[in-house]
Amino acid sequence: MSLPLTFSAGTSATHALSEDLMTSALELSYLHDDSSALHDLYDASDGLPHLAAHAGAALEGATPQEVIRWAYDRFGERFVVATSMAECVLPHMAAQIRPGAKVVFLDTGYHFAETLGTADAVESTIDIQLLRVRPEQTVAEQDATYGKDLWTRDPDLCCRLRKVLPLRRALAPYVAWASGIMRAETESRKGIGLVEWDATNGLVKVNPLAAWTQDDVDKYVADNGLLSNPLLSDGYGSIGCAPCTRRGNGRQGRWTGTGKVECGIHA
Ligand code: SF4
Repeated sequence: MSLPLTFSAGTSATHALSEDLMTSALELSYLHDDSSALHDLYDASDGLPHLAAHAGAALEGATPQEVIRWAYDRFGERFVVATSMAECVLPHMAAQIRPGAKVVFLDTGYHFAETLGTADAVESTIDIQLLRVRPEQTVAEQDATYGKDLWTRDPDLCCRLRKVLPLRRALAPYVAWASGIMRAETESRKGIGLVEWDATNGLVKVNPLAAWTQDDVDKYVADNGLLSNPLLSDGYGSIGCAPCTRRGNGRQGRWTGTGKVECGIHA
């Protein structure tokens, strides 16, 4: 029986979390060691939500790399990382821990050229397997079905068709996925856990950067000489689809003036 939560020896988190680790080891000790069997094991049960809640509490205070390492140890090939191609911190960390890491990128058909260029550059410079996930319909097909520029009339439906449903299909083979969202980004993200249950997709969701700030991200990018989306140095604080993204601090420029703050994949 393996300990479900492991950290590098000598980290401050190891000592601080030792009691939680013992508790979690005890409560999660029934977990199957073969992560490929996890879905079968937990179908129609609350096993994974239980795991997510306990792991989230036990890992609080751990570094992003420790959280990612835990996820690979726990879920193996059934764990995948997602990126928006703003910075490539998460893909880089994943590749350091698991060379050839699978990384999902939602190619909505509405991205800035700079974002697509960043995806190409990340794919060719970091040891990852980039999985480009596309909606069922092209933009032209969506225009023909729903009318031109659905995002102007019903951005929630547009996001559902081009982000939420494609991501759900892409994540179907996995048990857990990671996103780069941070508590400091918005009011609605203040309460996210390092590990939590994603009821929308029926998966464990890992947020390794939850406790980080933009300064932490910038430092990691500088320390590791990573490339970033050039729009970040052109006044864009956050980068989504071109029609719905303006310049601004943080996420101010996303869906400006509509009251919409999330696309639905982190809701
Ligand atoms: S961000 Fe805008 S263009 Fe992109 S999927 Fe959502 S509504 Fe559509």
